[in-house]
Amino acid sequence: MDLKSGYPFWAVRNGLLTAFPQLSHDHQSDVVVVGGGITGALIADELSRHGHHVVVLERRDVGWGSSAASTALLQYEIDTHMTDLTKRYGEAEAVLAYRACADAIGELETLAAGMGYVDFERQQSLYYASNDEHVAELKEELALRQKHGFDAEWLDHEAISAQYGFKAPGAILTHLAASIDPYRMAYQLFAKVVERGGEVYDRTKMEAMTSDEQGVTLTLANGATLRCQYVVMAAGYESQAWLPNPVASNRSSYAFITDPLPSDTLGKLRHTMVWESARPYLYMRTTCDGRLLVGGDDDDEDIPSRRDARVEEKARGLTRKVEELWPTLDINPTFSWGGTFAETDDGLPFFGPHETHGPRIHFAMAYGGNGISYSMIGAKLLRALIEGKEHPLAELFSFQRLARMT
Ligand SMILES: Cc1cc2nc3c(=O)[nH]c(=O)nc-3n(C[C@H](O)[C@H](O)[C@H](O)COP(=O)(O)OP(=O)(O)OC[C@H]3O[C@@H](n4cnc5c(N)ncnc54)[C@H](O)[C@@H]3O)c2cc1C
Repeated sequence: MDLKSGYPFWAVRNGLLTAFPQLSHDHQSDVVVVGGGITGALIADELSRHGHHVVVLERRDVGWGSSAASTALLQYEIDTHMTDLTKRYGEAEAVLAYRACADAIGELETLAAGMGYVDFERQQSLYYASNDEHVAELKEELALRQKHGFDAEWLDHEAISAQYGFKAPGAILTHLAASIDPYRMAYQLFAKVVERGGEVYDRTKMEAMTSDEQGVTLTLANGATLRCQYVVMAAGYESQAWLPNPVASNRSSYAFITDPLPSDTLGKLRHTMVWESARPYLYMRTTCDGRLLVGGDDDDEDIPSRRDARVEEKARGLTRKVEELWPTLDINPTFSWGGTFAETDDGLPFFGPHETHGPRIHFAMAYGGNGISYSMIGAKLLRALIEGKEHPLAELFSFQRLARMT
C-alpha cells in the first residue's frame, strides 16, 4: 500500500532527518512497536519514558507513511459531534472522549516543549456552519459542550465577517487547538527513545507474529526473529490487514500549502484554524512561517495510482473554494499532496488487543480526522494496559465497541 502521493510538505521541508539502521539479526525486547509514524513515536516515547525497553520496526523510513501527509491540526473536536456520540454511547462517554482529546493537546504541548523545534503552536478553531440548515445542529452542539465546561462560544454571521472576513451563517469558536509538524515531532520522539536505550530500525518489515503464554515471536521479512513480551501494532492504515474484518473505511484526503504569506493578508487566520460542518469538510491552518495549509475534498479512492493522478486537480479545486470564501486572497499551491486515511463509523479510534491475536498484541488504530490527538491518548492507554492498570477509555476505545456499533 502506497500511503501518500505528490509532495507532502513536511517531508520536503525536513528531508530525511535521521537514517536509522536495519535490523537483520535475531533479537529481543520488552515491547516491540511495529510502525514508525507519529503513533508509534508517541507510544515508544511513553513506554521508554516509563522504563520499558522498546524496539521500533519501520518497513519504510520513519515518518514516511501517512504521518508525512498529515496536515496536523490538533483538536479536541472529534469529527463526530458530541451530540451524536451521546446518542450512540450516552453523554458520560461522549464527554469522556472529548475531554481526553482536550487533555491530549496539553500533553502534546508539554512533549513538544521538550523536543526542540517541531512547529507547535496554540491556535483557535473556528467551526463554521456550511449552510443555514446546519446552524441549529451546531448551536445544539455548542450548548452541550458549554454544559460540560468546554471553552467555546457562538459567532453570528456579522461577527464572522467582521473578524475573519468571510461569509457563513454562524460558527463555534473554540480557544483550545494547536498545530504541529508531525514528521519532525516523530523523528524527535524517536531520538529520545534511542537516548533512553530504545532501538529504532528503518526498512525492517514485520511479516508474521505468533503469540504464546510467555510472549510473542515476530518474524521479519529478512528472516530474523524478535522475541518480546508485548507487541504494539502502530502500523497505521496497514494495521487493518492484520484483522479478519475491516473496522474502518480507507479514504484519500488531499492538501496543499502556499508560500509564506504576509501576516496582514492572513489577519486572524494566522492563529485560527478553520473548518466547516459539511462532509467532507474544507479545512485550513497556518504554519509558524506564515504559510496557509489547506485540506479536504476527501474521496473513497483507495488505489494509489488514481489518487496520484488526482492531486493537482484536487489542489486546484481546494484553491477555488478558499478563494470563493476570501475573494481578496490570492493563493497558489506551492506543494500539493494526497494521502490515505481511515474513518471508523463513529469517528472513534481502536486501542488494545483483538481476540484474533490474544492479549499480548495491542493495536493502535488512531483513525479519524484528529488521529494525532488520538495517538497521544493511545500512548497512555496502551501503557496502562501493558502495565496491567486501568484506563478510563480502555473499554470505549476497545474492539468490544464493535458490538455496540451494529
Ligand atoms: C491528508 C491527511 C490529513 C490529515 N490531517 C490530520 C489532521 O489535521 N489532524 C490529525 O490529527 N490527523 C490528521 N490526519 C491523520 C493523521 O495523519 C494520522 O492519524 C497519523 O499520521 C497516523 O499516524 P500512524 O503513525 O498511525 O500511521 P503512519 O504514519 O502511516 O505510520 C505507520 C507506519 O507503519 C509502517 N508499517 C506498516 N506495516 C508495517 C510492517 N508490517 N512492519 C513495519 N512497519 C510497518 C508504515 O510504513 C508506516 O510508516 C491526516 C491524514 C492525512 C492523510
